[in-house]
Amino acid sequence: MSDIEIARKANKKPIQEIGAKLGIPSQHLLPFGHDKAKVSAEYIKSVSGNKDGNLILVTAINPTPAGEGKTTTTVGLGDGLNHIGKKAAICIREASLGPNFGMKGGAAGGGYAQVVPMEDMNLHFTGDFHAITSAHNLLSAMIDNHIYWGNELGIDQRRIAWRRVLDMNDRALRQITTSLGGVSNGFPAEAGFDITVASEVMAILCLASNLEDLQRRLGDMIVAYRRDRSPVYCRDIKADGAMTVLLQQAMQPNLVQTLENNPAFVHGGPFANIAHGCNSVVATTTALKVADYVVTEAGFGADLGAEKFFDIKCRKAGLSPKAVVIVATARAMKMNGGVAKADLGAENVEAIKKGCANLGRHIENVKKFGVPLIVGINHFVKDTDAELEAIREYCTAMGVEAVVNKHWAEGGKGIAEMAQKVVDMIEAGGAAYKPLYPDEMPLAEKIETIAKEIYRADGVSMDKKIRDQLKAWEDAGYGNLPVCMAKTQYSFTTDPNWRGAPTGFELPVREVRLSAGAGFVVAICGEIMTMPGLPRVPSAENIRINDEGHIEGLF
Ligand code: ADP
Ligand code: MG
Repeated sequence: MSDIEIARKANKKPIQEIGAKLGIPSQHLLPFGHDKAKVSAEYIKSVSGNKDGNLILVTAINPTPAGEGKTTTTVGLGDGLNHIGKKAAICIREASLGPNFGMKGGAAGGGYAQVVPMEDMNLHFTGDFHAITSAHNLLSAMIDNHIYWGNELGIDQRRIAWRRVLDMNDRALRQITTSLGGVSNGFPAEAGFDITVASEVMAILCLASNLEDLQRRLGDMIVAYRRDRSPVYCRDIKADGAMTVLLQQAMQPNLVQTLENNPAFVHGGPFANIAHGCNSVVATTTALKVADYVVTEAGFGADLGAEKFFDIKCRKAGLSPKAVVIVATARAMKMNGGVAKADLGAENVEAIKKGCANLGRHIENVKKFGVPLIVGINHFVKDTDAELEAIREYCTAMGVEAVVNKHWAEGGKGIAEMAQKVVDMIEAGGAAYKPLYPDEMPLAEKIETIAKEIYRADGVSMDKKIRDQLKAWEDAGYGNLPVCMAKTQYSFTTDPNWRGAPTGFELPVREVRLSAGAGFVVAICGEIMTMPGLPRVPSAENIRINDEGHIEGLF
């Protein structure tokens, strides 16, 4: 059965019942239909004094093109914890609309470890991304309008840093010319679109602690520069108030349920390259106030996802995670061991042994953040016992436990063993979270630290221009910000085809950007796409509504 067929058969409960499991009274659930609700800001405030539950991060080895099952494991572990009698909630990201019509898989998990209603989640959901698109583009329109009416702020039209966004894969809009057609349309200029999830507004919504913090951060965004290179802020354009109004509802986290009727917060979805790739801080902190265990996910492999989760999200939100699950699959180990995608079906223990070096490096890396970890092997039906045993043996040799999980096929009971081990690990009390580098470390050194400690590069290559830029931001008071690395997810290096555990390479930093509102400096290493295109045969060609009125072709 396909993911969508399983999801459609779900025995969903009214969302009020799901909220009740966490003690959220129904008047504080703002329903969107019967199976989705936003949790009111008022309620969130009212539980702020509660004791925090235990935060568990699900991360992974470097992914292979198939997707390794982080979300599926996150959902499965949430169900597994509930299965063994714990009060657990899940926190994952919302899906971007555009990529669904290209080739991407769904964002709601898979098999019997899914969040429902998956169609809604992968489409318009509760409109959060539309709100972000509107807020972002309001600012774009107000910048152009400001220039049109005389440009009192002295914006250098060649140095507008604020683009437009759309939640659609549309390569035609990457670079465009605006204001053609005469005097009444303004001054022609170069502009362009990014996909909504790449908007700084998205990153801000996901890092802000409340509406006041949201507005302050929006105001802090740099939208353009003057001829003397001094920055013009969103606050100068006076857009921050109206943008906050547009985002008021979107700031409240969405509650839905798993196939096993357990609570799942699905909120926010920043890009995992030029942003930090985690669900919203508001959702995570709220979940921690109402559940004893909260399972959350970070995008991409642990080199990017977990590092940013720890160094950006946890540092900034004051979170202190208690356990980490590193997801590995036999397929990915084989690919990391040099097997081609087409040959993944055949047993190959030798390739697994070789590919385990990738897992081993992620294990060593996660340990640097002071949080105890376990390896969760996501079981695929074609995996052989010998292959799974090879991964387990490798982990044992590294002093880490590895458990084979069957949540994809069996739901929560298929991952109950690992759920119990995670609980035991947390109760043993070994967690002492610490970020990789201190706030006061110079920006260039932060980049070097991540490159050497996490990627194991020999060093970083950065032009003088980039070093000067970082220095200038330090002088302007941005030196304490964490760094957000933008790099391929497929390798520790910037070469997506170099799998395993590479050594003997440099990390080239091509460009740096300041996300002053979100609160990080982005280091771009290699080619990073902020507006995807559609493939030759987009999945949209096969998406339709069938005779029974059901959506077909969406996964
Ligand atoms: P990630 O979050 O790492 O990108 P997902 O959890 O979204 O990965 O899973 C990607 C795809 O792989 C989904 O379509 C899911 O159904 C499928 N998948 C995940 N785990 C399994 C499994 N054990 N067996 C078969 N398919 C799986
Ligand atoms: Mg995922």
